[in-house]
Order: sequence, then structure tokens, then C-alpha cells
Amino acid sequence: MKKIILAADIGGTTCKLGIFDENLERLSKWSIDTDTSDSTGYQLLKNIHDSLVEHVEKSNYTMSDVLGVGIGVPGPVNFATGEVYGAVNLYWKEVVNVRNIYEQFVDCPVFVDNDANVAALGEKHKGAGQGADDVVAITLGTGLGGGIISNGEIVHGHNGSGAEIGHFRVDQDQRFKCNCGKSGCIETVASATGVVNLVNFYYPKLTFKSSILHLIKENKVTAKAVFDAAKAGDQFCIFITERVANYIAYLCSILSVTSNPKYIVLGGGMSTAGLILIENIKTEYRNITFSPAQEGTEIVQAELGNDAGITGAAGLIYTYILEKDGVK
Ligand SMILES: [Zn+2]
Repeated sequence: MKKIILAADIGGTTCKLGIFDENLERLSKWSIDTDTSDSTGYQLLKNIHDSLVEHVEKSNYTMSDVLGVGIGVPGPVNFATGEVYGAVNLYWKEVVNVRNIYEQFVDCPVFVDNDANVAALGEKHKGAGQGADDVVAITLGTGLGGGIISNGEIVHGHNGSGAEIGHFRVDQDQRFKCNCGKSGCIETVASATGVVNLVNFYYPKLTFKSSILHLIKENKVTAKAVFDAAKAGDQFCIFITERVANYIAYLCSILSVTSNPKYIVLGGGMSTAGLILIENIKTEYRNITFSPAQEGTEIVQAELGNDAGITGAAGLIYTYILEKDGVK
């Protein structure tokens, strides 16, 4: 009888859960509401476990077939210890050791990592980064997150802050304050929030007549509206799109000379809303990046969408147990 991997991708409102086989093929997926009533994390993890057990028992497998449990958490994680340092969206103010809590429920290894890292691992194994050992994934959503896979493994750094690329300072004028407490982070100029920041900053300064003027005045600008207008030829929105693209291309360029990825995978809502954005990023990236570091590197769109998290959470077990043991 074959073995299975259990996966949980914890989000602020829902937890996506899944069962995978030894080849990281997904056998089933579903989701449960996120219980944020208990700031110790115990109740949420217990709910996840109960739901996983229920689904395993309904399948052709039993809990003794489980090779390991992989968990993605929206917050800073110490991969070595399984500690999560204050997951704001879950209202965990203190350190929660997710691995220690979860190991009370099961007899198998438990791996914990942050959601951006597991999403990158998911794309590496089953998405747009398949077949490569060096993959960078950048999530362009409300914020900007990322994960770096180097030589087949997630880059964590000495305290777990590796690949926190959203807080790379690109705006030397430091025009906008970031959630992290500093200013000028790329997240403040190249995320959905960043697009709005740039629109509000530049519009009073420029003389363009924009088709989205009514949205600007009503404070209803969205990144999608800006990219759609840019596609239709709106000069102001083209200007904004180029600014945003240049920041992201600069980030991709830095990532290329540091880790030389085969694939730079762009995901998140903004990547699907803005094909014009991705084309601009590619052009600028080719212009500014050291030639040997960009040779053979492809900038591609993410393929797994919302499933990247559970795939990558299961991927933790695949990568750090099956591949390490030489089984795969
Ligand atoms: Zn920041």
C-alpha cells in the first residue's frame, strides 16, 4: 500500500487542506474556516487535524499511511524549529510553535514554513517551475511576497527571513510607509497597494488626461483598472505600469545575479490582471540584467493559483523526506 502526505495552507479566513500521494499528485482538497478565537494556535491546529483525519478515514488510506504533514503559515517561521513569530492575520501575538503542537496529534514528521515559501515550492514541483532546481516565485497581491528555491531547497537564511523580498528598498525617496515599519520597500510601489500609491502620488504632478480620473477622484483606483486602461492606450496608466514594471524588473535582476534562477514565476492577483505589466517587466529585465545571469532564465506566470500553497506544503515532506532519503 502506498503512503500519503497531508497538507495544510493556513490563511486568515480559510485553511486549504489536501491529501497527496508519494509523487506529490493531489488526491483530494477541501477547505475549512480559520478559527482565530484562540491566540495560542492550538484550536486552529486541532481543527485542521480533525478535518484531515476525517478525510483520510473516508479515503482508502489510514493515518498509519501518512508519511508526514506539511503546513504553510502566513507569518515569519523558523523552519528549523517550527516556531511562528506573530502571525498577524491569525491574531497570534506570541510565538506559536506549530510543529510542537501538531506533533502531539500525529506519529509522523511535521514541517512548517511560511506561505510564500511553500507557494514557491509548489510552483517548483508542480507548476511553472517544474523540472528546475533553481526557481524564484514572486507573489504580486495586496502585498509583495516571495520564495527562493536554490539547488532544490528553500532559502531560509540564518533566522528565517531569507526571501522576504517585499521589504527590499527600491524607492530611495521613501515616499510611502510600509507595514514593516520602514519606508520605500518594493511592496509600497509594486503591489496592488503600491499601484494605488503611485497613482495618487503622480496624478497631481502630471498633466495627463486619464480615463480613470473619476476613479482617482472617488478614491476607487485598483491595479486592474490601471492595467486595463494602460492596455487601451491611456498615457497616464502606461506611465504608472512602466514605473511598477521597472521596480519588479529591478528585483528580478537582483535575484538573478544572486541566485541565478531558471524560472522567475510571477503569481498573485496582479499577475493575472496585468499581462501588459508582465511584458513590461520582461523588457526592462532583459535591458538591465547582467547577461550571463539572465541567459536561459524565463519570466513566467504562475500556474497553480490558489493551490500553490497546499501543493508546496505537501512539497515540504516530498523535498525534505522523500528526496533527502533518496526515495525520489
Ligand atoms: Zn517593508
